[in-house]
Amino acid sequence: MTGESHRCEVLVVGSGPGGAVTASTLAGAGRDVIALEEGPHLRLDSCAPFSVAEMVQKYRSGGLNPAMGAPKAPLVEGCCVGGGSEINSGLYHRTPPEMLALWRERYQVRHLETGDLLPHFEANESALSVQLNPGAPAPAAVKMKMGADRLGWRSLEVPRWFKYGEGVSPNGLAIGTRQSMTETLIPRALASGCRLLAGVRADRVARENGRWRVMAARDGAPVIIDADAVFLCCGAIQTPALLRRSGITTNVGNTLALHPTVKVVAVFDDELNGDVPDVAAQQVKEFAPDISMGCSISSLPYIALAMTDHPDAKIDVGRAWRGMSIYYAMITGPTGGSVRNVPLSRAPIVRYPLEARHLRSLSKALRELCRLLFAAGATHLYPSISGFPVLRHEDELSRIPAELSRRSTNLMTIHMFSSCPMGEARDRCATDSFGQVHGHRNLFVNDAGLLCTAPGVNPQGSVMAIARRNAMQFLNSL
Ligand SMILES: Cc1cc2nc3c(=O)[nH]c(=O)nc-3n(C[C@H](O)[C@H](O)[C@H](O)COP(=O)(O)OP(=O)(O)OC[C@H]3O[C@@H](n4cnc5c(N)ncnc54)[C@H](O)[C@@H]3O)c2cc1C
Repeated sequence: MTGESHRCEVLVVGSGPGGAVTASTLAGAGRDVIALEEGPHLRLDSCAPFSVAEMVQKYRSGGLNPAMGAPKAPLVEGCCVGGGSEINSGLYHRTPPEMLALWRERYQVRHLETGDLLPHFEANESALSVQLNPGAPAPAAVKMKMGADRLGWRSLEVPRWFKYGEGVSPNGLAIGTRQSMTETLIPRALASGCRLLAGVRADRVARENGRWRVMAARDGAPVIIDADAVFLCCGAIQTPALLRRSGITTNVGNTLALHPTVKVVAVFDDELNGDVPDVAAQQVKEFAPDISMGCSISSLPYIALAMTDHPDAKIDVGRAWRGMSIYYAMITGPTGGSVRNVPLSRAPIVRYPLEARHLRSLSKALRELCRLLFAAGATHLYPSISGFPVLRHEDELSRIPAELSRRSTNLMTIHMFSSCPMGEARDRCATDSFGQVHGHRNLFVNDAGLLCTAPGVNPQGSVMAIARRNAMQFLNSL
């Protein structure tokens, strides 16, 4: 089969937040850059947000990637130009200073004070229009704040990457456009001369004649790219899988961390959901950094899916869904997971076993979330535990077991990290402090896998700031 070959100074593999920052920073500085992306190049508005069509077009495997372990925790990854930024909620946090301190101390990451990241936070916030919602908060957010206020708990509205200015909806919500990578940094990279190869999957990377060669494929036909330097930005699952396929395994794919998440469907007497699903940006930080709580998308299909855990529930979701809302509680999970390849399969095997103490943390997270929702006026609560009875009153919280069941609890996660941790501690880190793979000159990781542990907050702000810092360090080293 005939194929194609390309040559460039810097090859960036993966075009999610890590890859898009890397490509736009390097191309903007005049480097000759190719960005390679396995998924298709689609506009942000190619389908309705949070729809089934979006899952088909933009999610890896339609959103069905299991992590092996008990309880089961499906992993959700984007697979399109822009990666996870095309499908996410746009909730923004800077990296908490206590996390940076932990990473400096335990992983010996150099130059990782908040002050080192500040210019990168600011540049990315400006590029993505990170801001608070200027309109009325979503009704589900109002409920969450009300519950937190009544209990005296700390909660906040989280800024989002969003361009407002398109008026307000009939119920007072500000209208605008979420700022994904295809809306921001990908066009910026292309305008600076970056070449984008979409629909091309990298299989392996190898050192040949003093350069890096990436063996890839487009619809089964080979694509070869030779580059002086390669940045792997395929996300915390696919980057370690690619490195391991290439025979690079030291501290690669051994310490995956997640934010295991449990959900609750809450029923209220008043109407919360309109026809267009809205992201409610309120979060509760009373138990941070161990536990965080927030609001999930509550469209009819998402609520119907969540209610499949409760086949005996006497509720007609099709009629009642406007008064139902999904909330989550997540724990800052351990670095106990692994990513491994299996022969003849393109999909790596991901394992994420949880210990009894994590199931106790999840139980506490669930119980406190239910307490808050009752304080907010919920009349019925349906936790994401198969067959669990409906909760109707705070007195029934004692029915939640002190340790969640491995068999019947349904977890999920949309946040993955730490599979290729950065730092100078050679016994535990895959890369140096700036993402260069230890022992492999000019081969870099620049995605969520670098975060040494789960950060306990929505991660894209951290992924992008660290990626920009590393790309600038690379430019300075030339
Ligand atoms: C549904 C959802 C909601 C989320 N909500 C938020 C939120 O509100 N706030 C927040 O901060 N974070 C959120 N996140 C997490 C955030 O999107 C991720 O942390 C972020 O996208 C990680 O960026 P990344 O560059 O490391 O990887 P990714 O975004 O996963 O990008 C990796 C890219 O590499 C491509 N790729 C993979 N393998 C190959 C290969 N072999 N060859 C070529 N290309 C390859 C993939 O197709 C993908 O496009 C959410 C995630 C999801 C899934």
